[in-house]
Amino acid sequence: MKILVINCGSSSLKYQLIDMKTEIAMAKGLVERIGISGSNLEQKIEGSSEKYKVEKDLKDHKEAISLVLETLCNDKFGIIKSLDEINAIGHRVVHGGEKYSKSVIVDDEVIKNIEECSKLAPLHNPANLVGIKACRELMKNTPMVVVFDTAFHQTMPEKAYMYGLPYEMYEKHSIRKYGFHGTSHFYVANECAKAMGKNIEELKIITCHLGNGASVSAINKGKCVDTSMGFTPLQGLIMGTRCGDIDPAVVTYLVGDLKMSPDEVNDIMNKKSGFLGISGKSSDSRDIEDLEEKGDKRAVLTLEMYYYRIKSYIGSYIATMNGVDAIVFTAGIGENSSKTRFGVCKDMENLGIIVDENKNNVRGKLTEISADNSKVKVYLIPTNEELVIARDTCELLK
Ligand code: AMP
Repeated sequence: MKILVINCGSSSLKYQLIDMKTEIAMAKGLVERIGISGSNLEQKIEGSSEKYKVEKDLKDHKEAISLVLETLCNDKFGIIKSLDEINAIGHRVVHGGEKYSKSVIVDDEVIKNIEECSKLAPLHNPANLVGIKACRELMKNTPMVVVFDTAFHQTMPEKAYMYGLPYEMYEKHSIRKYGFHGTSHFYVANECAKAMGKNIEELKIITCHLGNGASVSAINKGKCVDTSMGFTPLQGLIMGTRCGDIDPAVVTYLVGDLKMSPDEVNDIMNKKSGFLGISGKSSDSRDIEDLEEKGDKRAVLTLEMYYYRIKSYIGSYIATMNGVDAIVFTAGIGENSSKTRFGVCKDMENLGIIVDENKNNVRGKLTEISADNSKVKVYLIPTNEELVIARDTCELLK
């Protein structure tokens, strides 16, 4: 079975064609600048270091998906002979609200429900939907499944997901914590249990997904019991350009006293804060680490704040789960930055967490990085959200 996994953003589209016999991505690609001049596609085929690039104006996602399908079947650079080889399509959808705690097969009702959830994720769900609708038009007979970023977090207890606002805000406006990156937290927690040779049912795991967006989850017996992102992906950790937790009164102060518009505040908190806002220089952790090594004071502060916030969440989840067996680091920063993993875990030996600096000197591959005398196991585990989407798609269509 071959599954095409599609992750549509507002002007970009990532895809992978996965062979489910081997669970290997036969092709991976990215289309950028959809609907903007200078659109382009870049595709890599498994086992080849060459990248195939096409520059072609793409007015919308339908044209982008057409180009993806054409490229996959391309005589020279493609990987399949005909589209009939694609057995199903799995789509990533950011917000499934309270309706979806599992992946589902796409039908008209699912599409309507995703549309309804768009008010909770106005930047993401509409883009995801455009991709689903375009595929429905172009591949009429190919079954499709959607996998929600929020689904894994639906097991959180009420006490963890409710905000201390008037209850009507939840009843009337669905305002509560949802959590995101669920597919990634689910994947690495299960990989962690496998690596430990244990059943996930007997483990308490804290997973740190540290990419440009970042979140921490507390997973007890394989179920998410808390997570750091909230109503939107803005809550929680300090991220590339997002501020994470702040006193909500800052928002009313900016709007009421400083007369900023809601859009301006939104822009500051989502696009001009985090690493970029604190350092004043870059949203990329590699730049911040370079600057910190050169003694740049604001970069030093950025990293200190970043580690401190992650540590605070880990401590909080150890308290609420009454212990932890393993901590997992994943995503761009979690997988690549030994400095971050060490910075977060250092000075936690009283909680039984000790990282071995030699073992930690690694990137991008599943490794246990805790010291032999660390009570809590610490792991680097590369995430693979596309594989979870492909597996769910395959499973649902069986
Ligand atoms: P993601 O959103 O998971 O793609 O992660 C993006 C983040 O990962 C960016 O902040 C990058 O700086 C960071 N990242 C990617 N590669 C490396 C690396 N080799 N060393 C440190 N950070 C990295």
